[in-house]
Amino acid sequence: MSAIEIPETIVKKELFLERIPKAPQGRYAHLVIVRETESFPIFQTDGSLNIAKVRAGLKEEHRNNLTRLAMFKRKQSSPERLTGRELLRRFGITQNENKDGEAYCDYNEQFCQQCPDCVYYGFAIGEAGSEKSKVYVDTAFSITGYDESHRQFSFNALFEKGNMSQQGEVRSSFGEQDHIIPQVFFPSVVTIKDATVNSFVYVMNNVIRTKRYGAQNTRTGKMENHVVGLVFADGEIFSNLKLTQSVYDYMAEQGRLEETPLDRSDVLKAVKDAISPLLADDGVSSQIVTDEPLLELVNTVKSVTTDETKLAAFLKEASDEAKEYSQRVIQKLKPSKKS
Ligand SMILES: [Zn+2]
Repeated sequence: MSAIEIPETIVKKELFLERIPKAPQGRYAHLVIVRETESFPIFQTDGSLNIAKVRAGLKEEHRNNLTRLAMFKRKQSSPERLTGRELLRRFGITQNENKDGEAYCDYNEQFCQQCPDCVYYGFAIGEAGSEKSKVYVDTAFSITGYDESHRQFSFNALFEKGNMSQQGEVRSSFGEQDHIIPQVFFPSVVTIKDATVNSFVYVMNNVIRTKRYGAQNTRTGKMENHVVGLVFADGEIFSNLKLTQSVYDYMAEQGRLEETPLDRSDVLKAVKDAISPLLADDGVSSQIVTDEPLLELVNTVKSVTTDETKLAAFLKEASDEAKEYSQRVIQKLKPSKKS
């Protein structure tokens, strides 16, 4: 009996692999989610918010360009990886051992190559080896335009004592910074390639639990991820951009784009309804899970991940799976052992 049983009535057993395969098998589990800002995060490079000028919608009547906010790959995946890594450490899952017998696995510093994070999300350690990620994300785009989705705030530089004046000199506003505002929506697909039940649940748990995104400390803001659909397919499916554009078409037709912030229920429904027509264009064989069955699936996952004992058992199982794969595949492919 496994630590987590996904009801067969929701997802047929054969859609998950028994173990992580050495060579890709073309089985994809896609989580269709909506990322919603709940405070004022900043996604930027070189001091300005990440934006992209793209076509507003897919339909001819929405062929005009629109400058949208962009959430790059790592801005999505890094916080989610760190959520999972924190849990692994909390439950004392061994992440390999150094010569002092202490567990170690440092993100971007020293990957242990055998914990669920290293195996599922991949790593690269120069000449010493690498493992391709089995979890894919791509840049996500806001439904609404940059203009109505950000605000510029000036911030004040305080003197050391925390006041604004010193020896009669009053410091005025010091700088300006663009922030994304609350209730901006980014439709996004998280793909798990060759998913096992464990890798699927591990990734889904990270997506559900991660609440803070953005670069270090002062740049972060709260976000909530809403899971609106799940697609099992034998290949890649539509891009986040296409999903956002399709949602834009639909909401524009319904007259639901006129006021910002957009209504959350409208957005979630539009994203869910976009899945099936978009998949028809993708030419893949697929199975979609939404609504009640999806809710039941998410609750099944949560019933395990919110229970200390069950969560510990689940992480142990994921860890065993990752270790087995590491020994069977990663260690065997090491350049040093080739000759
Ligand atoms: Zn590791």
